[in-house]
Amino acid sequence: MSEELNPFAIAQKQLDQAAEIMGLDPATHELLRWPLRELHVTLPVRMDDGAVKIFHGFRVQYNDARGPTKGGIRYHPEETIDTVRALAAWMTWKTAVVDIPLGGGKGGIICNPKEMSQRELERLSRAYIRQVGKIIGEEVDVPAPDVYTTPQIMAWMMDEYSFMRGYNVPGVITGKPIPLGGSQGRGDATARGGMYCTREAGKVLGIELKGATAAIQGYGNAGQFAHILGVELLGLKVVAVSDSKGGIYNPDGLDAEAVIAHKQKTGSVIDFPGAENITNAELLELDVVVLIPAALENQITSANADRIKAKIVAELANGPTTPEADEILHKNGVYVIPDFLCNAGGVTVSYFEQVQNAYDYYWDLETVHQRLDKKMTAAFHAVHETAQQYQVHNRMAAYIVAVSRVAEACKLRGWV
Ligand code: NAD
Repeated sequence: MSEELNPFAIAQKQLDQAAEIMGLDPATHELLRWPLRELHVTLPVRMDDGAVKIFHGFRVQYNDARGPTKGGIRYHPEETIDTVRALAAWMTWKTAVVDIPLGGGKGGIICNPKEMSQRELERLSRAYIRQVGKIIGEEVDVPAPDVYTTPQIMAWMMDEYSFMRGYNVPGVITGKPIPLGGSQGRGDATARGGMYCTREAGKVLGIELKGATAAIQGYGNAGQFAHILGVELLGLKVVAVSDSKGGIYNPDGLDAEAVIAHKQKTGSVIDFPGAENITNAELLELDVVVLIPAALENQITSANADRIKAKIVAELANGPTTPEADEILHKNGVYVIPDFLCNAGGVTVSYFEQVQNAYDYYWDLETVHQRLDKKMTAAFHAVHETAQQYQVHNRMAAYIVAVSRVAEACKLRGWV
């Protein structure tokens, strides 16, 4: 049988395995296999040439037993409802594993933002909110940025929603620009949280990270900040990075500022002076200490897992490793920091943003960093200890921690 690559089927399979190990009762298990609610929207948008183009989008509210659903909105040409469902499920586990009082949701629009002007993106974003605005809100469901969506897009969305309500509602969306109620530290929070986890992994494994080599797949928000903070916080030597066009490799290390400037100028990291061009597949298999997938799903599969040489895989992307690959990595002694733990820094600071919006009182950067470190470090050790206790790999351990918290909330509410 070929390997399952449908992200939602994977998310369900991961839950099924955790449910079995935990001995979860059948009703709770079945409840947690499905989104509670989902909305499909059709969006007519007037393009710059005067023609109207029809876009399709989704908002999935997976589970809100622990609090309002929360999760990003993706703009991607290959977006599917199953990807959004999977990401909404992972958000549910993510908010639970870092123990913040939120549920999980996700949204997406099938579109190619690279082919759209800023005005077209604004009209598309406002059209989306006019539809999903009926089911979101600061106490119901709070979106945020994700792949190819930006603070500017969050600002338009918050503005459109505020028009619908008739007053300013900054708390309806997070990842906003700071002048509109964004939090200090949100920009690099995902990568920073992942680096705090990597630091703790280095400690429990007895691996010296200062000077250790690292490769990063994906060079957007998560990947670029992982490069900067991997160097700044851990002293990593980042020898390879990539984006959708390909990768670059230099055994002496790559300077983050210079690579970012090169990407800004040319649109890609490839052809960076002094580095060798490599493929994304080659990057994943490099002999490095830390491998950071920070792009899309299904990058480490049964086809290449045996060739992964990294000691630590810090998953900043959502769903980069398939369940079959997980088993292979575990057998080979690769220490995976699973996605919904490793990349939970983003949602944690988004939650801090919601708290600050609700109180209309804002924290300084140092406070955000301290509180984020505390949350991520506690979550990392809860997962690491559960892995030891149940003798399972870290992803399963993260599921056990998260699912037991969500299941407890469902039970206490009397749902099951
Ligand atoms: P982004 O849009 O800023 O960047 C995505 C990057 O991936 C781009 O550099 C793009 O070129 C690259 N890419 C796309 N397809 C690729 C391919 N086939 N091979 C290699 N690179 C490819 O997105 P982001 O916010 O950095 O998100 C990246 C991942 O991290 C996603 O899985 C996202 O769900 C996850 N994530 C992001 C956040 C966040 O706060 N930004 C939070 C949690 C999880």
